[in-house]
This record gives sequence, C-alpha cells and structure tokens, in this order.
Amino acid sequence: MKNIASKLPSEQYEKNFSDLHPPFTQNSAVAEANRCLYCYDSPCMKACPTHIDISTFIKKISTGNLLGSAKTIYESNWVPLTCAKACPVDVLCEGACVYNAKGEKAIEIGRLQRYAIENYFDKGMPALFHKAPKNGKSVGIVGSGPAGLACSAELALLGYEVTIYEANKIPGGLNTWGIAPYKMRREDSLKEVELVKSFGVDLKTEVMIGKTVKVDDLLKKHDAIFLGVGLGESPQLSISGEELSGVVGALDFIEKVKTENWENVHVGKKVAVIGAGNTSIDAATEAKRLGAEQVFIIYRRSDVEMSAYEFEYELAKKDGIVFHFLTSPKRIIGNSFVEGIECLKMKLGEPDIHGRRKPVPILRSEFTIPVDMIIKAIGQETKSSFLSSIPKLTLDDEGCVIVDRTTFQTANPKIFAGGDCINGGKEVVNAAYDGKHAAHGIDKFLSKK
Ligand SMILES: Cc1cc2nc3c(=O)[nH]c(=O)nc-3n(C[C@H](O)[C@H](O)[C@H](O)COP(=O)(O)OP(=O)(O)OC[C@H]3O[C@@H](n4cnc5c(N)ncnc54)[C@H](O)[C@@H]3O)c2cc1C
Repeated sequence: MKNIASKLPSEQYEKNFSDLHPPFTQNSAVAEANRCLYCYDSPCMKACPTHIDISTFIKKISTGNLLGSAKTIYESNWVPLTCAKACPVDVLCEGACVYNAKGEKAIEIGRLQRYAIENYFDKGMPALFHKAPKNGKSVGIVGSGPAGLACSAELALLGYEVTIYEANKIPGGLNTWGIAPYKMRREDSLKEVELVKSFGVDLKTEVMIGKTVKVDDLLKKHDAIFLGVGLGESPQLSISGEELSGVVGALDFIEKVKTENWENVHVGKKVAVIGAGNTSIDAATEAKRLGAEQVFIIYRRSDVEMSAYEFEYELAKKDGIVFHFLTSPKRIIGNSFVEGIECLKMKLGEPDIHGRRKPVPILRSEFTIPVDMIIKAIGQETKSSFLSSIPKLTLDDEGCVIVDRTTFQTANPKIFAGGDCINGGKEVVNAAYDGKHAAHGIDKFLSKK
C-alpha cells in the first residue's frame, strides 16, 4: 500500500479500542439493579429474541445472588457475554424498558448481564446445570459461531455426544473474528467456547466440511447434523479498478483488526468504505481508530434507507466519519495502487419490490474523492455453493437454507440449521436462539418424541 496512516503510540491504540461501555462496579451494579421495577409483563423479556428472564436475573443481582443470576441467563442463552456487550440493546431489551415511556433512562440491562456473566467466569465457571445421562446418539455441528455453540451446549446437556467441526484455527465464528474490539475482545468469545467445551463437547478446528471431511461421511458418522456455517465473503463491486492494491473486503480488514496487533494492520490515510450497514460502520470506525486521517462512507441511498442502527450511525459521526449519501462508486482510479474513487450522484426513484426507494444516477454528476484505501462492505454472500452440494437441502432465492421455524429441520430430515445461514445475517442473539431451539428439534427427531 502506498500511503499508510502514521503509526500511533501503542497506548493510543488501547485507548482508541477501549470498552464503549465500561463494566459496573459492585455498588453501581446493585444500585442499577435496584432501579428495576420487576414489571409483571416484562416487556424487556419479550423484546429479547432469546427471552431471557431479565427482571429475575436483575433481582438476583440486587440480592447478591450472582451465580443464580448467571443461571437464569444461561437457561435462555448460551452466549450471554457476547450478547451483553454486542447486542443492539437500544432496539431490543433496553428499548422496551418501561422507563423510556416515563422519559427516564432505561435500565442498563446489557451492562448488568455483563456484570453477572463476568463474575461467573471470574469464579471459574462453576457447574450450574446437571447433564442428562448419555443416550448413545451423536450429533455433528458444522461451525463454532454462536448458533453452533448454542446448539452444542443444549445437546450436550440433553445427553448427546456432540462434535463441532470448525474450519478456522480459532473458534467462535464472528464473535471471535467480526465484532468490533471496542465492543468485545476475542478472549470474551473464547471464554464462551470454553464453557461449551466444559460440557464434554469435542471441538475439532481446521476441519472444513465439504473439503477436509465430505458431507456424506459426516452424515454416516452422526445421527443428525446441525449447520451453523454463517455467511461468506463481501460481494464484488464489479467496477473497474477493483483489483488495485489497497482495495480490501470489510471482513478481511476487520479480521485483521481482531488479531489486536494493531500496529501491524494496514490502513490508509484517506479511506473510503462502500456501503452503510452495521459492518460498514464497524470498518469505518475501526479504520479511524487505527489512525486513518479521513474516513468516508459512500452510500447510494439516503440516511433514511441505510440499514445501520441509529446508535451505530451516531458512533460513526462522533468518530468524525464523513458520510456521502446518494453517492454511488463508478470506478476506482489508480496505477497499481488506489489513488481515488470516482462517484456518481444519485437521486431516489420509485420503491423497489421491498418498498425501498431505488437510487437513480444523475447524469454527468461524476466527482472524485482522493483516497488510498477502499473497504468494500456491501453485505455478505451466502455459502450457496457449499449448501447446494448437501443432499436434499433447499435454499431460498437469497441462498439461505429453508428450515421449519419451530424445529429448525431442513428438507433433509437428518439436517438442521440456524443462525446467519438461515436468516441472511441478523444478530448474535438470533443465532443463539436458533441454535438452542434447533437442539430441541434434533432431540424431538432422534428421541421420536
Ligand atoms: C463485521 C461484523 C460485525 C458484527 N457485529 C455484531 C454486533 O456487534 N452485534 C451482533 O449482535 N451481531 C453482530 N454481527 C452479526 C453476528 O456476528 C452474526 O449474526 C452471528 O455471528 C451469526 O452466527 P452464526 O453462528 O450463524 O455464524 P458465524 O458467527 O459466522 O459462524 C459460522 C462458523 O462456521 C464456520 N464454518 C463455515 N463453513 C464451514 C465449513 N464448511 N466447515 C466447518 N466450519 C465452517 C466458520 O468458520 C465460522 O466459525 C456482526 C457481523 C459482522 C460481519
């Protein structure tokens, strides 16, 4: 790369990537827990996709019963540390808190959950649940992201022999490799992996199903299979200059940032991020925190249509990210290295089939933004070529696996699926729900309940 952002002093990186929401002290946790009204209809619990009994775990914090609090949380969700730190709580549990309607600050549910779960790990993960006796059946789990982990934990406690096959060297899926370090570090994700392993789950890393092990062999080996393979790479922009040095995919860039050797991560001085979803915001704020002088987000629609959450947008603006709305990249300019991006101004036309107004180019509105790095963040492709190689599996038009939404069973009765590979990319908490409920679908299928 030609222009590299100047290196920051190492303590500056630590500062830039420090916790967005620092932990509670004991006193502040108890004080916050005591504010909870223990509502009779718990709107927060309904708003949580995993339906954690939030008012009960908070009540237990207020009485000093921290292990009981952790147990209440784990009864619904096997990756609660990740969820506590990375869930979009403003639009889920905290967004539903009755204090909002009173014009007062919502209970800080995410930070309280973090307090209970960090205490649980600090205490060395004491056993909270009884394991059912072994039932002689085995299940193969493909992928160790939150969907695979949740399914594995639940099945292991139900008495199944569980093996996770993970293509990556380091497990945890996007919890380990994707979520911004100022929300959570890799170590947090790895603690959740260790907890699942402590239930007797066998984790085999660097095993790519479909390559290292054939799907047919996996189907012969296990009584049932759960697919929690997530999504794939960012798609191509399909414009000229995309092959130039300095054009990178958002996931590759973010994965490097998650290694935490921040001084060694390449970042330009002037960076353009293409797209305006949550991943684009992460890539942009991470580039800025690595020392980029100017970071632009280029998006072909307006702020109204962008898929990034409001709080992510606010964070980006606070970090000084400049937004170019109604702007579409036309070509990347450079000679071996990126030197700029030529863009077209857009206006909004008629709504498309999803009801979103279509961007329409404005003729002769070209302009160039000088940049030395471009990060492509226009979503993730599905793993449709791997998935369509699996016998009898059916995929929807977007390439997501079609499942029964109660049992998570696919069209192949022996195969179940959950997480991003069935929903096209949602949140960790949705993957955690799917994995847990798929385990019950598998149990129903194998025990002929
Ligand atoms: C950059 C980024 C930031 C995000 N930030 C947040 C956030 O702040 N909060 C939030 O709630 N959500 C966030 N998400 C979304 C969240 O990470 C995902 O919804 C969630 O991780 C999906 O879980 P999963 O288990 O379905 O898949 P993944 O987490 O993607 O895990 C899939 C696993 O399967 C493995 N695998 C794939 N194919 C094979 C194979 N053939 N054989 C073996 N193993 C295989 C992969 O290596 C991977 O480990 C973010 C997503 C991205 C991309």
